[in-house]
Amino acid sequence: MKRFSLGTILCLSLLAAKGGAQQAPWPVNSLERPRPPVIRPGAPVPSTPPPSDAIVLFDGTGLSAWESEEEGKPAVWTVWNGYMEVKPGSGAIQTRRAFGSIQLHLEWAEPAPPNGEGQHRGNSGVFLMSRYEIQVLDSWRNDTYADGQAGAMYGQRPPLVNASRPPGAWQSYDIVFIRPRFAPDGSVASPARVTVFHNGVVVHDDEAFTGRTVHGRAATYETHLDRLPLLLQDHGSRVRFRNVWVRELVDDPGEG
Ligand code: MG
Repeated sequence: MKRFSLGTILCLSLLAAKGGAQQAPWPVNSLERPRPPVIRPGAPVPSTPPPSDAIVLFDGTGLSAWESEEEGKPAVWTVWNGYMEVKPGSGAIQTRRAFGSIQLHLEWAEPAPPNGEGQHRGNSGVFLMSRYEIQVLDSWRNDTYADGQAGAMYGQRPPLVNASRPPGAWQSYDIVFIRPRFAPDGSVASPARVTVFHNGVVVHDDEAFTGRTVHGRAATYETHLDRLPLLLQDHGSRVRFRNVWVRELVDDPGEG
């Protein structure tokens, strides 16, 4: 068995703690990767209302800001009682409008009582620019690989802690997303970056995506437009969402 010096271990730990564009030293979707500590978030707070400069994407009344990911088709998720709910099998929905760097707020609730195990319990996802997923999953007493649990940058980086609430309880994500930049030759000038609060607790602090979210293999980048829709995943679970809004971030010198 290969032995590592203390310096190597410290170096690897630092890479793992603040990986930048480097891959963490764990295989994708590894069941061996340590799970983040489970913490209790504070007591639920009232839904965070959108500030005056927000673009409201869902206020509980309808899906006019959304469409099916299948081009030209309307969004058909269920809207009821102030929330929208995944209609399993109907496919992902995406915003009609495209976004680059944003602040995003959304609230979500897992099916109660829970059904399924691991990745099959309450799976959905927030896909920034339709490409970079922050996982939505019922991670309350439901084990799965660390880089696939709630709050994970799916397949890339586990959340710093597991701050999940029980099924049925409203949870929140507050996300700051900085879009990637590509050089004229198609190489990555700067990767997509994200800061995420789950139920008010930081779970990613300005971390870089290593590429477009994929399952079971290492992510890579492909060039894309500066603005793309925000997408919510249909993974077959009746996950609910409410109070979805974004604020566009002026992130280019000379832009805006
Ligand atoms: Mg997902």
